[in-house]
Amino acid sequence: MVVGDIATGTDVLVIGAGPGGYVAAIRAGQLDLDVTLVEKDAYGGTCLNHGCIPSKALITATGVAHEAGNAEAMGIHADPAIDMGGMMEWKDGVVDQLTGGVEKLCKANGVNLVEGIAEFDGENRARVAHGGDGQGSESIEFEHAIVATGSRPVEIPGFEFDGERVVSSREALSLESVPDSLVIVGAGYIGMELAGVFAKLGTDVTVVEMLDEALVGFADDLAKPVVDGMEDLGVEIRLGEAASDWEETGDGISVTTETDEGEETNYDCEKVLVAVGRQPVTDTLNLEAIGLEPDENGFLQTDDRARTDVENVFAVGDVAGEPMLAHKGMKEGQVAAEVVAGEASALDYQAVPAAVFTEPEIGTVGMTEAEAEEAGFEPAVGQMPFRASGRALTTGHTDGFVRIVADAESGFVLGGQIVGPEASELIAEIGLAIELGATLEDVAATIHTHPTLSEAVHEAAENALGHAIHTLNR
Ligand SMILES: Cc1cc2nc3c(=O)[nH]c(=O)nc-3n(C[C@H](O)[C@H](O)[C@H](O)COP(=O)(O)OP(=O)(O)OC[C@H]3O[C@@H](n4cnc5c(N)ncnc54)[C@H](O)[C@@H]3O)c2cc1C
Repeated sequence: MVVGDIATGTDVLVIGAGPGGYVAAIRAGQLDLDVTLVEKDAYGGTCLNHGCIPSKALITATGVAHEAGNAEAMGIHADPAIDMGGMMEWKDGVVDQLTGGVEKLCKANGVNLVEGIAEFDGENRARVAHGGDGQGSESIEFEHAIVATGSRPVEIPGFEFDGERVVSSREALSLESVPDSLVIVGAGYIGMELAGVFAKLGTDVTVVEMLDEALVGFADDLAKPVVDGMEDLGVEIRLGEAASDWEETGDGISVTTETDEGEETNYDCEKVLVAVGRQPVTDTLNLEAIGLEPDENGFLQTDDRARTDVENVFAVGDVAGEPMLAHKGMKEGQVAAEVVAGEASALDYQAVPAAVFTEPEIGTVGMTEAEAEEAGFEPAVGQMPFRASGRALTTGHTDGFVRIVADAESGFVLGGQIVGPEASELIAEIGLAIELGATLEDVAATIHTHPTLSEAVHEAAENALGHAIHTLNR
């Protein structure tokens, strides 16, 4: 402790106010724990400020313009003009509303908010350095700590972020003008979502991916409609090419890619966006002070109660490992707070959904057919194409399908994969079915509103049972 420092004390110290940390802090406050939440930047973390929310705001806004400009078949003839400043202002307004909401909710739940950079300073103590001139630091003694410091974008050699020519998703979500051309390195979900945004803004977009597939981790039949949709938007997707270098040209840059065979290609563009993944922020916490060591990738290992190897220290969200998704972090934050409060809470990852907000969207939860087989089930699988859905036809979006995977013997729903309109929303029904231990018969017996896209989930369940009405049975 620095001489003259007066240590404040708290039951629970939460470091980082992203979805993992703010949920942990609010839940701890609800459980009458004395809780202190330290944030160095902005409430809401990556998700609200530089990730989920701004990206989805821009996906929606550019989607509105694109839909309006491509609705001749519906008898609508429009040529929307995009005011980039106005769009960014609207997006920033959404972000401000949500970050302000997080701050208010924390305060209303009795959370003590501290602005600054926290690091451990002893077994039960952390030091918080306040930003700004001469604001000094403070020492906080804690009974329990919840680490929720999130993640940062991964840089690749030769492509250090300069915020001008080489940008991460963070800068890409706040550009003041529309780039004429953009190379996106990485065809994961962040790269593909942003490729859609910029293509709809009129940017000439090329996505380069070192692997031989886009959206790795998603089944081929889910990724293919997205790749096709991107190509329809004019996005060029180059697989099997690794970005190796870049150099300034007269009025832009040239990005060089290399194949495994050493074949080089150059792409002229205004900027390059590197979206090759994210890494946990655990290297700035002085973890040695509490005797905690991250794994070789920087993640903190936790048990099913979000507890690290150190009894009174928990880790939630991106620092606690894959999948690095906001809702997974929120659940972990809630469980950590409840465990600290002495409740019998635990994590169960059988139904963590994932969504890709492209056109069409992807939504997945639970097991695929192959995973169900691997786990020893004999899967019953049902599928419903959106082209047979009345509601899908009325929206003009009929690409894709709903697939439901169940255990043939018991009928228990094990998983689902959806590609198509509103897949990110529809997947929730299959997640709920898994969580509740519902069977195919339960889903099929549930009366769904007509005409809705959710009828496709109902129909897929009936298809798995062999008696779908609006589609041919397998
Ligand atoms: C472009 C993009 C789009 C995304 N879209 C989605 C999506 O649609 N759905 C989804 O589920 N996920 C999405 N994600 C991922 C999601 O943002 C993260 O999984 C989520 O934010 C992780 O939450 P977290 O609380 O673990 O960390 P973060 O949200 O990263 O928050 C960590 C916080 O800790 C603070 N902090 C770090 N170190 C310290 C310190 N020493 N002291 C004090 N404060 C500190 C940081 O400033 C930050 O505010 C997206 C991410 C990106 C980049």
